[in-house]
Amino acid sequence: MTSKPRGRQFFFNPGPTNIPDRVLGAMNRATLDFFSEEFLAIQRLVHAGVMRVLKTKQHLLMYAANGHGAWEAGFANVFAPGDTLLMLESGRFSASWTDMAQALGLKVETLRADWRLGVPTAAVAERLAKDKAHEIKGVLVVQNETSTGLTHPVAEIRKAIESVRHPALYLVDTISSLASMDFRMDEWGVDIAVGGSQKGLMMTTGLSFTGISERALELSKTGGMKRSYWNWAEMRSISPQRFPGTTPVHMFFGLEESLKLLEEEGLDAVFARHRRLGAATRAAVAHWGGGAKSGLTISADGLEGRVEGIELLCRDPARVSDTVTAIVLPDGHDANALRKIALDRFNLSLGGGLGPLAGRVFRIGHMGDLNEPMLLGALATVELAMTVAGIPHRAGGTEAAIAALSGR
Ligand code: PLP
Repeated sequence: MTSKPRGRQFFFNPGPTNIPDRVLGAMNRATLDFFSEEFLAIQRLVHAGVMRVLKTKQHLLMYAANGHGAWEAGFANVFAPGDTLLMLESGRFSASWTDMAQALGLKVETLRADWRLGVPTAAVAERLAKDKAHEIKGVLVVQNETSTGLTHPVAEIRKAIESVRHPALYLVDTISSLASMDFRMDEWGVDIAVGGSQKGLMMTTGLSFTGISERALELSKTGGMKRSYWNWAEMRSISPQRFPGTTPVHMFFGLEESLKLLEEEGLDAVFARHRRLGAATRAAVAHWGGGAKSGLTISADGLEGRVEGIELLCRDPARVSDTVTAIVLPDGHDANALRKIALDRFNLSLGGGLGPLAGRVFRIGHMGDLNEPMLLGALATVELAMTVAGIPHRAGGTEAAIAALSGR
């Protein structure tokens, strides 16, 4: 019988993420009546806190659902079956968001991209300029594609939409970027921002939300599709913070505390910490691969090209993610076998490759409640697991991360 590894599980899977002890502690309390003034005050505080993180003064509605629920709420309130949406391809999550839209009867045109590079901003303006009849009703972007460790520039894409004066709504998925990377809903002209509790907000999974612009809210009053649970009008008819059904009070206790933690550190310092940890992770990967750069390309259909050494999946240094790093293994090596060694022997949880990346890629999540010793421990353990798994790499990636963190 194999014994369970000792110690706390080292969690470097890109979501859910580590829940700080203070947040766990805040949830360890007796239930409050969710109509009591004591609880409603907490709910209002949380609501205002999430709006500050989204950087919006417009509207916010929350759901007792994971991120998929907020995706659906966004679609159901503003689009009608048959409407056309333009999706920027970035990886597995842009593909799943597309699948959901299609299942709801929406048409999706995808701006195709190599998953290692994403869609050039100019391609958005070019496509929208051709849509003279304004058939495209929404432009959809995943700010931080968790499956590939690739970001899309949300502000630049808004400028591209404006450059051709296209009236499409702008929908952005912030699930693995919010509260870890900068996001400015109002300044960047986002109409629907989809977020979830379980990543940068350092909470349990199960609370998701949509930031909603004035324009999207107005459209929802006469538009949208058949809906009930997700119906914004019904939720707002009682109060701007209304919850459909029983309010999950403990999640609000937890979120109140995680918002306090974020505000104590300061959002800019939180983003800077993620930038430092992301850069250190990439320094380790570059070292392990000895600078290997293959001509590998990736699409929804699969991978094309030979890979000789370990390398970063994202090839555009301006678009690398500071919350998750996806790493491609050399041909003939199994990323899931590596993850199994890391988990079963060393109690380190890493993310796997999703969709066509299964077995070819592993992911290190570095978002939320993390610091330097935790990251260095994880990187050293990845190196240990690679050694055990017989994956060729240049030893010393952890030292490269130390050099990056110390500014040497
Ligand atoms: N979008 C992104 C970018 C994600 O990373 C995820 C989950 O990891 C989702 C959407 C879906 O969120 P959920 O799993 O909470 O439904």
